[in-house]
Amino acid sequence: MSRKKELLTLMNISNSWYVDTKHEARNDLIYENLELEATNCQQCILSKSRNKVVFGKGDKKSKIFIIGEAPGKDEDINGQPFIGRAGKLLTEILLSIKLKRSDVYITNTIKCRPPDNRNPNTDEIESCSHFLDKEISLIAPEVIILLGKVAAETILNKSKSMADLRGKIHYYKDTEIPTLVFYHPAYLLRSPYEKRKVWDDILFMKREINVG
Ligand code: URA
Repeated sequence: MSRKKELLTLMNISNSWYVDTKHEARNDLIYENLELEATNCQQCILSKSRNKVVFGKGDKKSKIFIIGEAPGKDEDINGQPFIGRAGKLLTEILLSIKLKRSDVYITNTIKCRPPDNRNPNTDEIESCSHFLDKEISLIAPEVIILLGKVAAETILNKSKSMADLRGKIHYYKDTEIPTLVFYHPAYLLRSPYEKRKVWDDILFMKREINVG
């Protein structure tokens, strides 16, 4: 038994505290290495045109894991997800249910900006997907929210309309993590009359998954 464990036992403090902090420290290290790997990634053509890799940000212990499509211009310059106009609307949506950005974890399907904000192609998505898989397994959220049709179709591997994808519980790949589809905030900026539908999405999440 290590000295630290011995002391905890002597002091009658549960070992689980020790085990948890040790586990957390190891996960933090794996996470930092993953972020570093992404920062240096050259696996697809987007590495030639990007300014910064945009890795996920937020609470690494959050129950809520949000996935957008791809970094835009502001995100590419600053290296942070969802900081442009769509990001500001996302912040407001979260605040409407009393969540701060720092309470959730936010990332994108791919980590580098496609030129002129075009949709990511299959090669780009495939070469980036292991980052998302690892982010999810490290954070182990209770719910995943996919923002918009591109993220939803790509991640769920289903070609359906938003009307078909929203308001249903899907699952991330072969995990048992409930995964929901919400409108993308950029779409809501273009179609403000649809904004109230986000409420339906949030209520669905609260009712069915009991988080948020
Ligand atoms: N900003 C992001 O980081 N992702 C999006 O999908 C849109 C804007």
